[in-house]
Amino acid sequence: MRKRILNQPIDIINLNAAAYLAKMALIHPKQLKIITLNPEMVVNAVKNPEFQAAINNSHLIVPDGIGIILASKIVDYKTFQNIERVPGIELAEKILEAANELGKKVALFGGKKEILEKVLAGFSSKYSSIKIIKAVDGYQGVEKHAEIASDIASENPDLVLVALGTPKQEIWINKYSSLFPRSIMMGIGGSFDVWSGRKSRAPKWIRNIYLEWFYRLIIDPKRIPRILKTLPQFAWMVFRASLQTKLDF
Ligand code: UDP
Repeated sequence: MRKRILNQPIDIINLNAAAYLAKMALIHPKQLKIITLNPEMVVNAVKNPEFQAAINNSHLIVPDGIGIILASKIVDYKTFQNIERVPGIELAEKILEAANELGKKVALFGGKKEILEKVLAGFSSKYSSIKIIKAVDGYQGVEKHAEIASDIASENPDLVLVALGTPKQEIWINKYSSLFPRSIMMGIGGSFDVWSGRKSRAPKWIRNIYLEWFYRLIIDPKRIPRILKTLPQFAWMVFRASLQTKLDF
């Protein structure tokens, strides 16, 4: 069910339903561009039209961060009372499981070369029926992006996972998606770092109390300026939107 929050489209769908949709797109191949929306993306989309277009052109937009869940409930509780977090990394893992079950072709783009190699080694045992048709690291310069896209597209992948960080990954997907009419395309941020074992995900109890974002800040303090830059603006957007909803009544 597509709704809007803070000027962004959002689909109210849970993890299992999103994974089911993706599995259907693997069984009956069709394009499915997936966005995992978080507060940083909401703030950045305002000043980046290319990124906004990438969000608007996506087929499935799921609420990734707890910030989106809280904001939507604060702004419009009635509409969003049942909204649930869909962590991008968990959705990607479920899609990989389905791709494995179906023996599908997968392409990976992004991350550091050595990280990607570790991911590939892990995949060869965990998802042994998947055919990895390309694995391209994410540090080759933007001038190579078009060539990388046609190179990956020439292998007709069923699933393209892109880890260039946001908004680069979403913009790349949107820019070259016409080359991938039958692929699932998804930006997965730092997931390769987790799958390679370089970074760990927050323990389950931390995730359960909605502090995964805080855990990520602690293990990767480089993220702190990013968060400090966007959080006040996000809070202001939520405040303005909730005031607007109250005035509309
Ligand atoms: N990355 C990349 N090329 C770049 C910048 C980043 O391949 O030019 C990779 C980086 O190695 C990391 C991922 O993109 O694996 C982004 O991770 P981050 O934790 O910043 O993602 P987020 O989920 O916060 O968007």
